Amino acid sequence: MFDKILIANRGEIALRILRACKELGISTVAVHSTADADAMHVRLADESVCIGPPPSKDSYLNIPALLAACEITGADAVHPGYGFLSENARFAEILSDHNLHFIGPKAEHIRLMGDKIEAKKTAKRLGIPVVPGSDGAVTPDQDAMAIAKAIGFPVLVKAAAGGGGRGMKVAHTEADLQLALTTAANEAKSAFGDASVYLEKYLQKPRHIEIQVLGDGRGGAIHLGERDCSLQRRHQKVWEEGPSPVLDVASRAKIGNTVAKAMQELKYIGVGTIEFLYEDGEFYFIEMNTRIQVEHPVTEMITGIDLVLEQIRIAAGGDLPMTQDQVTINGHSIECRVNAENPVSFRPSPGKIQQYHPPGGLGVRIDSAVYQGYVIPPYYDSLVGKLIVHGKSRVECLMRLRRALDEMVVDGIETTLPLFRALVREPAIIDGDYHIHWLEQYLAGQKAD
Ligand code: ADP
Repeated sequence: MFDKILIANRGEIALRILRACKELGISTVAVHSTADADAMHVRLADESVCIGPPPSKDSYLNIPALLAACEITGADAVHPGYGFLSENARFAEILSDHNLHFIGPKAEHIRLMGDKIEAKKTAKRLGIPVVPGSDGAVTPDQDAMAIAKAIGFPVLVKAAAGGGGRGMKVAHTEADLQLALTTAANEAKSAFGDASVYLEKYLQKPRHIEIQVLGDGRGGAIHLGERDCSLQRRHQKVWEEGPSPVLDVASRAKIGNTVAKAMQELKYIGVGTIEFLYEDGEFYFIEMNTRIQVEHPVTEMITGIDLVLEQIRIAAGGDLPMTQDQVTINGHSIECRVNAENPVSFRPSPGKIQQYHPPGGLGVRIDSAVYQGYVIPPYYDSLVGKLIVHGKSRVECLMRLRRALDEMVVDGIETTLPLFRALVREPAIIDGDYHIHWLEQYLAGQKAD
């Protein structure tokens, strides 16, 4: 097992990793920018190192500074959390060149899944169903129109290097295609330095359903059921729940086993998520995330498995915590990502939290790094915290979420709490009857009223 882990992240996920380390008896090193000197993860870690000024590129993405911090503190492993360097294959390699352990998958798997075209080809080869589309990147000498017509309109132009919903454009008709290709390629070029784009059938009202996996790197892998993350705004998840309101035991087992088998073949190590769009009873692979995800607590609540703790144990050479037969899904869980944003305009609202009262009681969990008097800096994401609830059934879970949201107080800044208080009372949400465009349509309707 590792002796000392350096947590190359900030905010709630840094705290989350720190908690797992403490329970494993591993010493912790926090790193922080000058803007985060008073952050909770810094206060609770055994040691801390300032790695640079506020902009992420000079601090949390500063690889030489992180290596120096490992050297100074004698850390033997690095946990990247999510975002920042978590899906940077080069970072994983550099760490290994310095005899430091990267708590994550092999660099080759990060690289493979980071290229969406390669990822899709691999998924197909491993028997995972994919969205119909172009065979790889669409090059200028190819007849994009012929490919698009063969797929059938509407089509989606997507960036090979895509992430965070950038470099994605819909062409509803033939007339839209050229503009969509050019804009997506330009956006991809400036955001990722790679202009390659590919075409996919644009699904009209799919749900976003993702499967959590855990692999031991030696050919053992299990799946831990799904999370339904269909409630999104600008391709960003807002509300996640598990199990999905639309899957039954048989369909879960079918897609889960397909994915687990693929991970066994890849000899994948650690935690990973295979994301799908789901429409009319069919799954379509869109991408794989080779890291812990923001919404991982949903799976923890319904399986009782501490994913971050297992991720660390497995990275240190440990076995999977259980066999597939031993995985049981208990009850229902919902996560709300409470952001420091205006609940109508979604304009960021950084600043000082004057009053903070997190909700409590049975089945209520808060993953957050804020406290009363904490100042949310303007430099990073606007997550205040994740409210996660668990209930024996979806109905119990919704009622519990309703009362937890009503209890929660975050004053001094604007938050998206009012949006969640409204959503939990919406008939479509209560019925589980929503798709990936539902939230944006709902928000557009709210504004029109
Ligand atoms: P990113 O890596 O940029 O987040 P993804 O491929 O994961 O890109 O897609 C993000 C979101 O975009 C999905 O959750 C879904 O809402 C939408 N999307 C992606 N592919 C399609 C598609 N073929 N049809 C309809 N919507 C899609």
